[in-house]
Amino acid sequence: MVLKSLEIQGFKSFPDKTKIQFGQGLTAVVGPNGSGKSNISDAVRWVMGEQSTKNLRGSKMEDVIFTGTKARRSQGFAEVSLVIDNSGKTLEIDSDEVVITRKYYRSGESEYMINRTNVRLKDINELFMDTGLGRDGYAMVGQGRIAEIVQSKSDERREIFEEAAGISKYRYRKNEAERKLSSAEENLLRLMDILSELE
Ligand code: ATP
Repeated sequence: MVLKSLEIQGFKSFPDKTKIQFGQGLTAVVGPNGSGKSNISDAVRWVMGEQSTKNLRGSKMEDVIFTGTKARRSQGFAEVSLVIDNSGKTLEIDSDEVVITRKYYRSGESEYMINRTNVRLKDINELFMDTGLGRDGYAMVGQGRIAEIVQSKSDERREIFEEAAGISKYRYRKNEAERKLSSAEENLLRLMDILSELE
């Protein structure tokens, strides 16, 4: 799967709409310290559904919105879109290009979109499951991540191998089914109680 471009607006140090086109092969981002290189990878991580403010190098989600400078007013929202080449149909969507968008307002409201249609965060997570991309994917390797994997407990390491082997989707679906089953069982119990009271 190939990332085609990234569009950023109001995200961290990018107040203006900025489009980054990824060419064929390797793309390197160079620039002086503090110029916003890591903010680009934060944007990729964020648009794919990252919820941990720590992983985004902030303390609250609002920190992703451009805070303003002496010369520029702060922004009211942050928006990032990632265009993915899906000609290989790795993502289960019937289009050659998939655009994922996330928008976050200072009021705390969030929006997620797939191909410009509003979706839930759950849909974004499910879309990327077992692809290596996404919130828990191994395609994004941040600073210290390798050491973290080496030092992680066997359960956590197993999750990484499951994602790489493409089976985490099945574990997720099994957990979802078990959750629904137990809530149905609870409802059934409550119904039995009501029935016995009526009898
Ligand atoms: P280094 O080479 O030192 O790792 P870098 O190029 O990766 O630096 P980043 O860490 O991406 O730089 O960017 C840091 C800059 O982003 C800082 O100047 C910081 O003030 C700015 N920044 C971070 N969040 C915001 C925000 N919400 N609003 C405005 N600027 C922000």
